[in-house]
Parts: sequence; structure tokens; C-alpha cells
Amino acid sequence: MKEFRLERMTYLETEAYSKKGAIVLLPIGPLEAHGPHLPLSVDFLGSEAMAEMSAERLNAQGTPAVMAPVIPIGVSEPSKMFSGTVSMKPETVKLVISDIAESFKRHDFKGTVIVNQHGERVNIETLIKTSAELTERGIPTIMANPIGRIMGKIHDMLRGESPECDFHAGEIETSFCLWKCPELVKTEVVKDLKPYYVKQKGKFKDFIEAGGTDCYFGAPALGKAELGEAIYEVIVEEIVKEVEGWASSL
Ligand SMILES: [Zn+2]
Repeated sequence: MKEFRLERMTYLETEAYSKKGAIVLLPIGPLEAHGPHLPLSVDFLGSEAMAEMSAERLNAQGTPAVMAPVIPIGVSEPSKMFSGTVSMKPETVKLVISDIAESFKRHDFKGTVIVNQHGERVNIETLIKTSAELTERGIPTIMANPIGRIMGKIHDMLRGESPECDFHAGEIETSFCLWKCPELVKTEVVKDLKPYYVKQKGKFKDFIEAGGTDCYFGAPALGKAELGEAIYEVIVEEIVKEVEGWASSL
């Protein structure tokens, strides 16, 4: 497989990609508490995995793509009271993304795709708004965001009794970590975590108010490595479709 990670290439190799009309996948995700059993890196490792799998497939299917190193940024207000969580202001996220996308534009990459796993509402709104503003300024940028569209499909794969409420460090993200970084999962802790589901999650200002005092929502004990892999396959398939459509329209 040909190298597509920017940090491992020389500028001449990078240039060969931009001359072919390559796009750049930019994975981002904040350092954020994910229960007593998962590392703070869940969201940026998730975004990184999605970007890496997508870049591989895009290149194989004829859409040239490189991948930037994952940037640990995001707005994480609802979980900011938990130790280690870094929450940035929307303006900060916007400035960082804009500087990066402008740099890639300067070197003739066709566009930038923000790959983001962190589902906090303000974070998503910030990324969508930033992408639209950059595109407006002639710097084509999108946030690949298939998760909302395929959530039903993902929920059907879960075993917990309220899969629609499994949104943070529950069955989905525990499965992801058991697949990608099992050495970082506190397996002794996971098995005793009782499912905790919150309906109407948008009604709460933060995780504590929503009753998530252990910083998870869902059923962590049901996590399985095979499930993690299967879920990310579904997500990546959608990202690739979305990016192929977008790149061919540029
Ligand atoms: Zn997460």
C-alpha cells in the first residue's frame, strides 16, 4: 500500500498527491473523559481509525487522498467537569481548522474533509459552520458526517435494551476500544458497569445533570471487539461514498 500519511512523507511526495487532485482527510477529536473504563483518547482514536480506513479505500477506488495527523481538538462542554477533558471554545476550533484548511489549499489540494467522531451538538454545529464558511471563501471543506444518517443501522447491531441512548462510552465506544486499543480498556472495571440510559439527552446542560456521574451513557459491559470492527466498517463505507461524491463535484 502506498503511503498516504502526510507526516511520513516528504514535501515532494506530498506534491505528487496534490498534482493528482488529492483531497486531505483531517481527523479531529478532543481529549475527553469516557467513563471509568476507557481512555481520554476515544474520540480522536475513533476519528483517526475512520480517516485511515477511508483514505485507504478512497485511494484504492481512484479518489486520491492523503491523511493529516489527528488533531486533539473539539468543544466538550457537557463533560468538562471530568478530569483530563479539554474543551475548546467554538472560535478556537474554527481558527485551528481554518488555518489547516488554508494551508492545504495553498498547496493545491482539492479540499479538506474533517473526520469527526465527537458528537457534541455545539461541536458538530461549529464544524459544519466552519466548513461552510471556508467553502464560501473558495477553500472547499466538508465535515464527513454519516453517523446521523446511519444511526438506525448501528443501533440495530447493538444488544443493549435502549440502543438509541448508547451515545457515550457505552456499547459502541467500548466495542471500538476493545477492537482498536484493547490494552487501554479497564476490563476489570467494565464488567461491573451497569447500563445507564438517558432519554431526551438534549434536555440536559451537562453529563452530571443527566445523571451520568460516571461519565458514560449506554451499556459498556456489552462491548465486543468484533462489534467495534463491524460498526466502523458501516461508518467508513458511508464516509467513502460521501467523500467520493463530494470530491467528484469539485
Ligand atoms: Zn466519544
